Parts: sequence; structure tokens; C-alpha cells
Amino acid sequence: MQTHFKKIIEALGEDPHREGLKDTPERAAKAMEYLTEGYRQSVDQIVNGALFESDDDEMILVKNIELYSLCEHHLLPFIGKCHVAYLPNGKIIGLSKIARLVDVFAKRLQVQENLTKQIAQTLRSVTNAKGVGVIIEAQHLCMMMRGVEKQNSIMTTSVMLGLLREDPRTRAEFLSLVGSPLSRG
Ligand code: ZN
Repeated sequence: MQTHFKKIIEALGEDPHREGLKDTPERAAKAMEYLTEGYRQSVDQIVNGALFESDDDEMILVKNIELYSLCEHHLLPFIGKCHVAYLPNGKIIGLSKIARLVDVFAKRLQVQENLTKQIAQTLRSVTNAKGVGVIIEAQHLCMMMRGVEKQNSIMTTSVMLGLLREDPRTRAEFLSLVGSPLSRG
């Protein structure tokens, strides 16, 4: 990757050997590796048995999980918040694991819609939950810095599975707890 970053710097018309840039290919490669480390992690490894028996059947919600990802169309960041809810079905998952599941998919090249779906489907299959809801609200640097240059637009995507999809009251509860614009119609 370092070689390629060096070529990109040259293609920009810059001198990759000047003081400020001489270590940049190495740094950029390391940063890119970190931002895409989700490719080298597995869901099993992350969950690592942190599933606990429980007869709790109330909705469990983790709000405002920080989200950093890279759009697969421009390799530019999109940044935002992720809200995750599920209705347990005999098993609950450690809270920190939910944030890590968000990360394992966010740290790949993504489109926001697919990221939302992957988080929801994975949480459902890992916990066997009766319902799962995931909302992502994010700002895309590819929109803010280039192209249409819309500075304040926030893209919202949501995926509802099981009871969160089928039961309007459960779904409404989730949306109002999150304070999502989706709940205000
Ligand atoms: Zn983009």
C-alpha cells in the first residue's frame, strides 16, 4: 500500500521526498489499514461468548454509538451515529459488543444502507432476538467537500427486523426513544 500512496502523491504533482511528505506513504498506509481493520476481524471473535441467559423481554437500546466509516465510492469518510435496539429472546449480549459489532462493519469500504443492514442482520443471527432495529444518521464527506457541497445534509437509514418491523407499537417505541426524525413523520 505504501508504494501506491507514494505513486498517488507523485500523480498529484508533489515531491514524495520532501520533508513533510517523506513518511506520508507509510503513515497513510497504516491509517488505511486501521480504518479497514474490519476485514481482518470476525463476528465470532468479537462476540467471544459474551451472550448471557436472560428472561428480560423489554427492548434494549444503545443510542449514539459513534460511527466512522469510508464510502466505497470515493474512499472518503462518513461520520455519524448509530442507534441499535433489540428485543431479547432468552439471550442478551454484552453492551460493549454491540458497539464493536458496529465497528467491525464500519471499518470496511461501505455504503450506509448496506452497513445498516449488516449490523441488523448480524445482531439478529447472533442473539436470535425477536426483533432488531438499527438507525444510522451520518454526514458524508464526499457530499460535503466535493460535488454538491451540501454541508448540513444528514443521511438517515434504518433497518427493522422481526417484531420491530411487524409490530407498529414496538417500532414507534424504538423511534421515539431514539428521537429519530423518522418518528416525527
Ligand atoms: Zn461517497
